[in-house]
Amino acid sequence: MDIEKIVEEKKKVLTNEEKHVLFNGGTEAPFSGKLLNEHRDGMFCCKVCNTQLFASHAKFDSDTGWPSFDQALPNAVEYVDDTQFGMTRTEVRCATCHAHLGHIFDDGPTDTGKRYCMNSVCMEFQEIA
Ligand SMILES: [Zn+2]
Repeated sequence: MDIEKIVEEKKKVLTNEEKHVLFNGGTEAPFSGKLLNEHRDGMFCCKVCNTQLFASHAKFDSDTGWPSFDQALPNAVEYVDDTQFGMTRTEVRCATCHAHLGHIFDDGPTDTGKRYCMNSVCMEFQEIA
């Protein structure tokens, strides 16, 4: 699989907002994302390369306005220090195509203690029947 080719092809069909978030590390407006209230059983996958990132059972309601998860699937994501805006945060990217997904914080309410704060526009939901 030639991931660069997949990314180039995908860029032709993504909206400007999707590209801004995925490739420039942007953030969608809170409460705007269509996955925020997605509660079916399934998998949340990278919008660019379709890699499965999060299982629906890891999703929780954080009241932040962004879809939130307490864990990612094994080896699905990578972590990058982000010092934009004078803050040190940890950026979460797709480990396969390196697209930006969101950030991770240590204030999660479950046993993992993690809160993956993701952008809806970076993912597609695949329902498991
Ligand atoms: Zn990806």
